[in-house]
This record gives sequence, structure tokens and C-alpha cells, in this order.
Amino acid sequence: MSVTVVGSLNEDVLVAVGRLPGRGETVVGREAVLAPGGKGANQAAAAGRLAGGLAGGVDGRADGAVDVVMVGRVGDDPAGERQVAALAGAGVDTTLVLRTPDRPTGSATIPVEDGSGENLIVVVPGANAALAPADVDVAAVRRAAVVLLQLEVPLATVRAAADAASGTVVLTPAPPQPLPPELLRRVAVLVPNEHELVQLAGADHGPRSPAQLAGLARGLGAAATVVTLGARGALVVPGDGPVLLQGPPPVEAVDTTGAGDCFTGALGGALARGCDLAGAVREAVAAAALSTTGPGARGALPDAAAVRELLP
Ligand code: ADP
Repeated sequence: MSVTVVGSLNEDVLVAVGRLPGRGETVVGREAVLAPGGKGANQAAAAGRLAGGLAGGVDGRADGAVDVVMVGRVGDDPAGERQVAALAGAGVDTTLVLRTPDRPTGSATIPVEDGSGENLIVVVPGANAALAPADVDVAAVRRAAVVLLQLEVPLATVRAAADAASGTVVLTPAPPQPLPPELLRRVAVLVPNEHELVQLAGADHGPRSPAQLAGLARGLGAAATVVTLGARGALVVPGDGPVLLQGPPPVEAVDTTGAGDCFTGALGGALARGCDLAGAVREAVAAAALSTTGPGARGALPDAAAVRELLP
């Protein structure tokens, strides 16, 4: 069984600042820390970490081993090497991560304000923008039980991957952009956060009940939608049938960066092992909650044993 992720790899440059700069202003940062990032790679790392170690993943089945494969592009530079090494360290197969001679590895520069934790993000796609439909290894996508896609690589490439898939296609619509109906038709599970859902639906921001969110989600037209709701957990909206709100287990959240990526990586792994959508969301909510208990997008990715302990 395999999960194939087609998406972005970035190097995050986290800069601690006393105060975020305003337009035209210079502030002096305290320190800059490099961290592996990119939505695609973060999802792969989460799935890889959960699949490794404990045989059989979260449910401990002997036949439950899941391979995680990353398809993407980095530059032919030290930052690219760091991204590949970080993924391999999380147990991800990186043989389909291509080097791009004429573009740098994608980066995200993120000043983070002391105290408030508020940030600004400047993304330079670099090599991610060069990931072409022809770079998608059709065999790796076709044999995958689950294919995880996001929108940090060109839309044509996302569509090519969705078209090549024979398993379950899971799409994180981030950064949000209009989704062509031909792509949506191939998506089994759409996983927006609340902000992305509202933006995709063209609705106004503001508090909404689960029933109202489900109405917006159904309007998007995917076979099923799972809306992540931060500290409130996640809302499962099947094409028909009852909506389910899965609350998170109690955790002491210190940094929610990348929680959504951990959620989707865990969801993909659970679906690949044959869990139904509600069961997979239960695991994903537990894994994502644990991921918030440490710093950064990958600082506290849980393994299967930790998730299993949290599940009743
Ligand atoms: P994103 O990271 O894309 O903004 P969310 O903020 O919705 O997405 O978080 C994704 C998932 O991470 C949630 O569905 C939830 O399971 C988990 N999560 C996020 N914040 C918390 C928190 N404070 N406590 C527990 N779980 C959390």
C-alpha cells in the first residue's frame, strides 16, 4: 500500500522579530532558523512518520504497512539537499524528487513576532513552479492507494496527477484558487480549513455553525469534504448522509503551524490502510492535535504509538 504525495518542498526561514515590520520599514531580527517546509513535503513527512516505527501503523495490523512516496522538485542546491534529507529522515521515499538546475529550492521567509506569534509569509516557489505534468511519475501515482495533492505546484500538474490516479485522491485547496470542475470530479476528499472553505465558496468571513459550514462544503461539489476547524477539530461532510464533528483530544497546543498538513498526511495514511472516512478523520484529528504540542511544522510530528495512545 502506498501514499504518493505530488506537491511542494520549501525551505522555511523563520525569523524571530520583536515586532513585525510595516510597509517600507526595516526591523532587526534576533535569529533566523531554517526548517523544512512546503505543504506537500509536510504532508509526506507526517504520513511517513506515522507509517514508520510501529509495524502496522496506528491500528497495528500486520498487513498495514504504508509506503510514502514524494513527487516534487527542488533546486540543485544545498537547500534542496536539506529538504530531501529531512524527508528521507521521516521515512519518505524521495527517489522521485527531481533536481532543477536553473531554479532555487522553494522558500518561505517568515518573520514571527515574539509574544503574539503573529507572522508574515513571503513564498518564493522556485523549483516548485517548474514541476511539470510530465514530471509526475505515472506508475507511482497509479499504484498509490491514496494520492495527496495541494496547490503549491502548477495547477496543470495537480490535474495530471489527479487524472493518473486510480486510488483515492485527497486535495488540500491551498493556497485557495478556483478549482476546475474536471479536477473536482477526480477528488474523493477535499480538505480545506475554514478560511479556505469560505474563500472557495465565495462567502463572507464570519462565525458559522457546523450545518452552515456543511452547506458551503457541499456547494463545492467534491465527493466528500473534511473541513479542519483548528482547536474545534474537523467536520466530516460526506456527499450525502449525516455530518460529523470530530473534536480533538485535550492537548496543550504551543504552535499550530503545519497542523493542517499533519492532519492531511495522517488522513492519507489511514485511508490507505483501509479506514473509512470517519475513522481516518478520528486518527487525523488526534495526530494533528499532537503536532501542535511542539514548535514548527514538523517539530512534533507524532508516530503511530503516540496516536494510538490517544484514541479510545
Ligand atoms: P491549518 O493548519 O490549515 O490552518 P487548522 O488550524 O484547521 O488548519 O488545523 C488543522 C487540524 O489541526 C485541526 O482540524 C485539528 O485537528 C488540529 N488542531 C489545530 N489547532 C489545534 C489546537 N489548538 N488543539 C488541538 N488540535 C488542533
